[in-house]
Amino acid sequence: MDFKPTEEQELMVQAIEEAMTRENLETYFQDCDKEHKHPKKWWDILDELGLFSMFLPEEAGGDGEGAVTMFLVMEALGRCGGPIYLFWDHVKADALLENGTKEQIDKFMPMFFEGKPAFAQGFSEPNAGTDLSPATISTTYTRRNGKVYINGHKHFISGAQDSDYCLTLAKNAEDPEQLTLWFVPTNVPNCKKEPMEKMGINMENVNDIWFDDVEIEESDMFSFEGNGLMATSKGFDYERLIDAFNAYGQALCAYEDACRYANQRIVKGQEIGRLQLIQNHIMEMTMRIEAMRNMLLHYAWNKDNGQLTRAEASIAKQFCSESANIVVDHALQILGGIGFCGSRVSRIYRDVRITRISGGTGEIQTVIAARQVLKKYR
Ligand SMILES: Cc1cc2nc3c(=O)[nH]c(=O)nc-3n(C[C@H](O)[C@H](O)[C@H](O)COP(=O)(O)OP(=O)(O)OC[C@H]3O[C@@H](n4cnc5c(N)ncnc54)[C@H](O)[C@@H]3O)c2cc1C
Repeated sequence: MDFKPTEEQELMVQAIEEAMTRENLETYFQDCDKEHKHPKKWWDILDELGLFSMFLPEEAGGDGEGAVTMFLVMEALGRCGGPIYLFWDHVKADALLENGTKEQIDKFMPMFFEGKPAFAQGFSEPNAGTDLSPATISTTYTRRNGKVYINGHKHFISGAQDSDYCLTLAKNAEDPEQLTLWFVPTNVPNCKKEPMEKMGINMENVNDIWFDDVEIEESDMFSFEGNGLMATSKGFDYERLIDAFNAYGQALCAYEDACRYANQRIVKGQEIGRLQLIQNHIMEMTMRIEAMRNMLLHYAWNKDNGQLTRAEASIAKQFCSESANIVVDHALQILGGIGFCGSRVSRIYRDVRITRISGGTGEIQTVIAARQVLKKYR
């Protein structure tokens, strides 16, 4: 395995860092965070850098770049304080290409190229999070007079404010064992969506959605009837790896800010970096940053070579989400009061916490990985 970046990858990382520095985006991010606004200016830079098409499959006209390049991009964007938790929509394109009808692909695929929110994904409900099953899902679809009607309440749905559609998991009202996905319009009178209060990731919206007999067509079905839980599952491992890139990228920013601060902040006539207790924080952070980077490059290489296992994806997500939270906590401690009041490390501290919950909680990653490990030694 050789992790030395190619010349193209180096140029791309350089271009990202130059663009992020040129625009001096930190004040802008602070404003967007305070106002709970999508960072359009930053999004335009991603577009200018070609990042929306970079990871889309070649068969759809994208550049088809793989996981190692993805890691380097997330690392470069995260290092500069970018809200990289927003940059994952392109992952939905694989499932769309695999399971979508021609009409659905023609309708949504161009939006991924433009960085526009094509559709939100509505699986979770107030009583269905980790456990998505006919017993917990209460959103239903009913066929009437040649149409299909959706009723129910979806919960925690990311990006739904800006999306016209929600890919919605619902069960057949007449045959509840059938869980099926439907593209349901959300900007229609019978649908209400409301942003939820949350402790971080303020540049993203997370929503409750209520469907009250929303009328759709049979052709709005995604994949086939009864395949609702499987139609998007093939991409889960890669999504978990990307979640891990996201956690690492944010932690890297906090880590580097804290190291610089330790060299500058004078207390009792000397830089705090000379104090052994501060060096302990530096060491704790460095070990985790190094371990995350090595693990992620290794697994990204495995992904690009068709060898990423389910256990590895879960190990990466669990290790990096926990480690990132630990690193950011140490970083905030080094920054002292300014860490809590107004530095970007405060924002990262709030933003990184979700990596232990969404996209499958840490407990679930542990269950998945541990089972696979035990199987190996049976
Ligand atoms: C900011 C945010 C964005 C989200 N975006 C989306 C989205 O776009 N679309 C969407 O559909 N959902 C989304 N979700 C929902 C997310 O996927 C769920 O929150 C997550 O799956 C956990 O479900 P839950 O919150 O209901 O917790 P629960 O499933 O109720 O879990 C509660 C606790 O019990 C633990 N637990 C549950 N089962 C087990 C088990 N078998 N073994 C051990 N421990 C277990 C969990 O790990 C957790 O600690 C989002 C959530 C958040 C907070």
